Amino acid sequence: MDGDCIFCRIVKGESPAKFVYKDEDFVAFYDIRPSAPVHVLLVPAEHIESINSVEERHGRVISKMVLKAKVIARQLGIADSGYKLVINVGRGAGQIVFHLHIHLIGGWSKEKDEN
Ligand code: AMP
Ligand code: ZN
Repeated sequence: MDGDCIFCRIVKGESPAKFVYKDEDFVAFYDIRPSAPVHVLLVPAEHIESINSVEERHGRVISKMVLKAKVIARQLGIADSGYKLVINVGRGAGQIVFHLHIHLIGGWSKEKDEN
């Protein structure tokens, strides 16, 4: 845990977020500064700095987050129109929050799914 980490605070309920999903392993919430019509972040409960710090034991939560991203994309109506799952690794790649997260972004075409 990192006492100064905004995503740790959100996971612990100490900072507000608009949650899409929450369980004991990870949470998903809307990005505060969306870079697309749909922009959700999937964030493990454990403070992992980045993919560079990922260990074998994190495989389960990462795979759970990817599988849930698929479900959330469907729920938010962008599964068929298309979306990106993005992980920025390090400052040079644009990572500004050093608590691992997957960006789920899409909805550009507004040709959202029928249901
Ligand atoms: P990255 O550049 O990959 O580190 O992405 C960090 C993302 O976190 C950015 O898209 C920010 O807009 C987003 N962000 C930062 N603080 C918050 C917050 N309090 N609630 C929701 N999203 C946030
Ligand atoms: Zn953290």
